[in-house]
Amino acid sequence: MLQIDYSKIPGKIWMNGNFIDTKNAKIHVLSHSLHFASAVFEGIRIYNSKPFLIDKHLKRFEKSARILDYRIPFKLEKIKKICEKIIKINKLSDGYLRPIAWRGTESMAPVNLDSKIGVAIAGWKWPVYYSTDAKKNGISLCLSKWKRPPAFTAPGESKCSGLYQICTLAKHEADRKGFDDAIMLDIESNITETTSSNIFFIRDNTIYTPKINNFLNGITRQTIIKLIKKNNFLFKEKKINKNELNKFESAFITGTACEVTPINKINLKKLNTKNTLVLKLIDQFDILKKKNV
Ligand code: PMP
Repeated sequence: MLQIDYSKIPGKIWMNGNFIDTKNAKIHVLSHSLHFASAVFEGIRIYNSKPFLIDKHLKRFEKSARILDYRIPFKLEKIKKICEKIIKINKLSDGYLRPIAWRGTESMAPVNLDSKIGVAIAGWKWPVYYSTDAKKNGISLCLSKWKRPPAFTAPGESKCSGLYQICTLAKHEADRKGFDDAIMLDIESNITETTSSNIFFIRDNTIYTPKINNFLNGITRQTIIKLIKKNNFLFKEKKINKNELNKFESAFITGTACEVTPINKINLKKLNTKNTLVLKLIDQFDILKKKNV
């Protein structure tokens, strides 16, 4: 992937009440979140200079913080307005917004009940996540050796920085093996998600997706499930064990970054990237993006 120095991206970042130049948007090295991975964040696409599904993302932002035992110290309406301002100031038409909240410098121990919560919102031009032909030709996935932790060991419904250590390691593993991304299993070898998306499978015109079990119930996943239901496609949410993977004909992933992207292989198993149900969902998702209401 192209390496970018994000401390030098053009434009402004809103940080704790002020719009400042990107190069000055700094936090102290003794911030709790740097040591104990207590930040929460969101990723929001901008289409046509408007944020996509922003209310849902900001609600999840608030929920992610609540799960980590703190509150975002700004009203969501205000954060929404700031997001819209960042789009204007940074002149973004197709772009990405990254709100983040973190615990401050009041404690260098895990306990930090009364910490000050910092909030920042950055926005930049949309980069390509996978290759430019990923939507047409699909991407490849391997099964990672890294497992998603069970609910009693980690706050899996929070989009919190701590949980992304697993994603980074799994994605590195995939890159080194020559795959585009990795599927993570749970400790019982059921499919969960990839490092940045949810996954769906198809067999005999039925669409399957793993039932949420302490992994992110993506906003794109929820949008696609609505479309599947609207189309009256056959659909099941269920536990999917890795042993069942051989039975599927097609698969696709959903997420803010990848939108809806077909899978061309999982490990050695080749998959059909031209399944008509997937192509229909890609088209219908594109219409939603264009409407962007
Ligand atoms: N799982 C993980 C681990 C992710 O990082 C993301 C991206 N936020 C998703 C799933 C998909 O979520 P969404 O559709 O809300 O982007």
